[in-house]
Amino acid sequence: MSYLGDTNNLCWYMVPQMRDAILRLHNVVGNAVTKDKFLVLGTGSSQLYQALLYALSPSESSHRPINVVAAAPYYSEYKDATDILQSRLFQWTGDAALYDKDEPYIEVVTSPNNPDGTLRVPVVNSGVEGKIIYDLAYYWPQYTPITDQLDHDVMVFTFSKCTGHAGSRIGWAFVKDIEVAKKMIRFVQLNSIGVSRESQIRAAKMIGVICDGYKNLKSIESDHLFFDYSKRLMKERWEKFKGAIEKSKVFTLTKYPTSYCHFNKDLSEQYPAFAWLKCLEGIKDGESYLEKLKIRTRGGGRFGVDAKYVRVSMIGTEDEFIELCTRLSNAKRE
Ligand code: PMP
Repeated sequence: MSYLGDTNNLCWYMVPQMRDAILRLHNVVGNAVTKDKFLVLGTGSSQLYQALLYALSPSESSHRPINVVAAAPYYSEYKDATDILQSRLFQWTGDAALYDKDEPYIEVVTSPNNPDGTLRVPVVNSGVEGKIIYDLAYYWPQYTPITDQLDHDVMVFTFSKCTGHAGSRIGWAFVKDIEVAKKMIRFVQLNSIGVSRESQIRAAKMIGVICDGYKNLKSIESDHLFFDYSKRLMKERWEKFKGAIEKSKVFTLTKYPTSYCHFNKDLSEQYPAFAWLKCLEGIKDGESYLEKLKIRTRGGGRFGVDAKYVRVSMIGTEDEFIELCTRLSNAKRE
């Protein structure tokens, strides 16, 4: 019933079974080094983004707001989430590739990227050393080969994209610097006095079931293993989707490399959560073009690029996805 989850942990609102489940999950998947890092839980990773901006900004009031950048096309919410309160601590400065000031900055590196699914590294070229937030929402085996066990100073994950339970609002960050972790936890305290205990218990249980599957590998059919099942689903969807795009002759798709996945122990392609389409000559505004076909997308402008690009979700329900492919096949060059 209490606000407190574990008074022995720096992140005092996190229940022990949530912490254990997250560590176990990363141990099974092998996508992040969790040793010697502080685990900070958030009400979704969106709350942790705000907490990180607060924690990574200079504390002296004499400072100008720190610049926040991400390479375009960038996740559409970063800009608004950064500027909504018109903070004196931080300000959105746009495309990281164009940033050339010798001033402090925070770069958000989203890999695989939302909207275009590409794998990314920091791109800022500045005389000043920046602070980097790795948003690893999609670094799970159903979306991309797990090529490395990442070991960055600040890494953010979310249950929303790991299993699809976005409504549970569970996100977490691994942070090397205790002072940054403490500030984040203070932010969460003032913002929501912690994270829903019910959500934590439910998420911990689900993660436990997923990990148990991989413990009992021999007695379980691969289709009952969560990441194997969801990767197969993503692969099938991408094949269907590519077919519909080819038929339409209106769009081109981003091409993805094949790499070795340490989790699946095979060479694998990427199957991003979103398709990033570029309209061919003659269509200037992809979002309104697709709106006419009754397909709701998000246009390039929201991601800091041209309106001839659009983002389409690949992770809706099965019915929605099939309908999407049918409507897309009806697109024809005018
Ligand atoms: N980062 C990225 C790259 C995302 O795509 C999303 C969700 N669309 C989030 C963060 C936020 O996720 P949540 O708050 O549900 O954890």
